[in-house]
Amino acid sequence: MNIAIIGWAIWCVGVFVLGLSAGSFLQVAAVRLPYEKSLLWPGSHCMSCLRAIAWHDNIPVVGWLLLQGKCRNCKATFSVRYLLVEIFAGLGFLTLFVLEVVLDVRGVGWWRQYNWTLQSGLVPWQAWLVWAGEAVLFSLLLVASICDLEHQEIPLSITLSGCLMGLVFSTLCPWPFPLEGPAGVAQVTGRIAEEMRFPVSLHPWPVFWPLPGWLPAGAWWTGLASGVAGALAGNLVCRVIRFVYGLGRGRESLGLGDGDLLLMAGAFVGWQPALCSFFVALAPGIVMGLGFLLLRGSQALPFGPSLGLGVLISWFVWPWLGPKVAWLFLDPITLVLLVGAGAGGLLVLSFLLRLISGPDPEEGPAAEADPETATKA
Ligand SMILES: [Zn+2]
Repeated sequence: MNIAIIGWAIWCVGVFVLGLSAGSFLQVAAVRLPYEKSLLWPGSHCMSCLRAIAWHDNIPVVGWLLLQGKCRNCKATFSVRYLLVEIFAGLGFLTLFVLEVVLDVRGVGWWRQYNWTLQSGLVPWQAWLVWAGEAVLFSLLLVASICDLEHQEIPLSITLSGCLMGLVFSTLCPWPFPLEGPAGVAQVTGRIAEEMRFPVSLHPWPVFWPLPGWLPAGAWWTGLASGVAGALAGNLVCRVIRFVYGLGRGRESLGLGDGDLLLMAGAFVGWQPALCSFFVALAPGIVMGLGFLLLRGSQALPFGPSLGLGVLISWFVWPWLGPKVAWLFLDPITLVLLVGAGAGGLLVLSFLLRLISGPDPEEGPAAEADPETATKA
């Protein structure tokens, strides 16, 4: 059998198992962080009898299945959610690895640049670094989404520390990473002239084009600037939309937590995909909103999960989406005009909504968690 395929299979199993363990940790984080509890102390315990959970009962998936979702000590049931989140995180890590490195769907050019390494079943460290950035962002979005679904709130401890992590990754992988040095930049310039599209790196695009002299391609401060611009743009778009919509409709729409979520995601992906992801998120948002309306009869829609999905979708379809919106992002005047027109349109629309539907009924209290189900944290 081809040695590369064996190597690849091992990496895939490895990232899947890593994802399962991450899911187990994220689940604990999602239970503890909304109450500002420590992540490290105390260790995992049953919330029903407060007994510590032995390490062998805490092995992702296996532990849950062996005990059939019950506490070994008091037999309280642990929600099947634990199992599902672990599997979801495992599949998420694996999917990111396959999409990013194996299939190179974002078109970074892993196979062109590291053909020999990849052919021999190894993965270059540059690819691991970008994958790690994606996996961390995915984990943060997942835990934020669980909190948003459960508490209609995204803890600042997640979004702020996530924003810091994003800035670290941005600084470590400045555009056009993993292309390096003057040769890489020359190649970039040549290709832009031909195709009007950038090669993607951790940041799909540089913060500004053409890059001014004080922001050279590949410098760590260029990467940092890109991360900061992403965080600010992501947060700003949510705040502006929230403000304008609130002005017209006379009630609050987006939570501030959604803005914090895009603050965090923007630090990872840069400002162009961060802005796009808000609009991409409207599609899953509408589907989820209808689902919530049918199932719970409630209008309160947690937008966090859709926003997280929007970020990941924009990130991976960027090679296709990017060139289509390039005209908008490469010309500041067009961008300002469009934002103005968009804000005006939203104001009119939200005011019409206010006229049509009248004042909103008071919203009922959020559904409480099922008290029959014990939690493990
Ligand atoms: Zn127990």
